[in-house]
Amino acid sequence: MARREAPAAGPGSRALIVDVIRSANTISRVELADLTGLTQPSISIIVRELITDGIIHETGSTDSVRGKPRKLISLNPNNRFGVGIHLGPETVTCVAIDLTGGVVGREVVPFTGAGAAALAGRFDDFTQALDLPRERIEGLAVVGPAGNTGLGGALRAELTSSIGLPVIVENDAAAAALGEFWSRRVSREQSFGCIYVGAGIGAGFVFGGALFRGASFDAGELGHMSIAFDGRECPCGNRGCVERYASTTAVVAEARATPLGRRLGLEGATTAGAYDLISRAAVNGDRDAHAIVDQAAAYLSVAVTSMVNLLDLGRLVLTGPGVALAGAIHARRLRGHLDRTAHARRRHGIVVELSAQPRDTAAIGAAALVVQASIAPGHTPGQAY
Ligand SMILES: [Zn+2]
Repeated sequence: MARREAPAAGPGSRALIVDVIRSANTISRVELADLTGLTQPSISIIVRELITDGIIHETGSTDSVRGKPRKLISLNPNNRFGVGIHLGPETVTCVAIDLTGGVVGREVVPFTGAGAAALAGRFDDFTQALDLPRERIEGLAVVGPAGNTGLGGALRAELTSSIGLPVIVENDAAAAALGEFWSRRVSREQSFGCIYVGAGIGAGFVFGGALFRGASFDAGELGHMSIAFDGRECPCGNRGCVERYASTTAVVAEARATPLGRRLGLEGATTAGAYDLISRAAVNGDRDAHAIVDQAAAYLSVAVTSMVNLLDLGRLVLTGPGVALAGAIHARRLRGHLDRTAHARRRHGIVVELSAQPRDTAAIGAAALVVQASIAPGHTPGQAY
């Protein structure tokens, strides 16, 4: 790897070190100096602080043929926790993670409201059921669809005062990107993108270890990238937005308009339930269901390829309820389209992966935002709203 200019030891150095330890899993101080470009004395000071704060711990030594063995350090998972709440269209998902992104608790309940009182009650119920010590919870992040007007600064202030902990509010696709980045141990050199497929479609990006937010915290509106200038009308004012063709809502509407709808019994189901019925049929060999999901995946691939070309991304994760059951159909379409058409395909490969926890990814990401803000500050420039 190309060595960077040696950065001065400063507030960013601590975030850099935490990030390199996270992506390496275990690492020695000497390797840390190599990878960060920081001097040995700076590394020693910051590592000592991080050990004192309980964020990292020594986990053994390397075998060494010559010279003395090197002590290895890694994140100390059990020391602190982040809590995330994802407000979905029909359900509320609560997740607690440790410092490495490992899930220590998860609960899904029906949606009962997004006000501060309801959310504070949810937070108390969830953390008490898990028996998480309050002093080890770093905070709460609440995430929902971009443009959810209920998720504002007023909610954050009210919630902060009622639970007595820091509160972050963010859009779900951006949170999912950070969660995947954190738990997959993606290194900060990679240009990383995450595509969230649900009732809406969004994208999140992590560049240099930090979530990319744009001028008004609104980056990643992939769903409103047009794939046809005279296409379907969209409430945003544009035409041909990919969300109108590839979201779970669009796929369910498409299926309901064909004989497949009656055959699968979609009329009585919720949108999320109907989408799962279609996806399950698609991966179980139902030709009509497969054709509908595959068509949606093909439309999405066109928009994602434009996004990859604009940002020169190297690694992508597909996540969200839209890829929970039939994600392989989406991944195959997208890989094929990128292989044939992506601008950078002859310079570098573009890795496409599927999330391991597509339904929980936004809640996990929310909790990861809390963890990152607390142990690697300097990455989170502000709040989303
Ligand atoms: Zn639109």
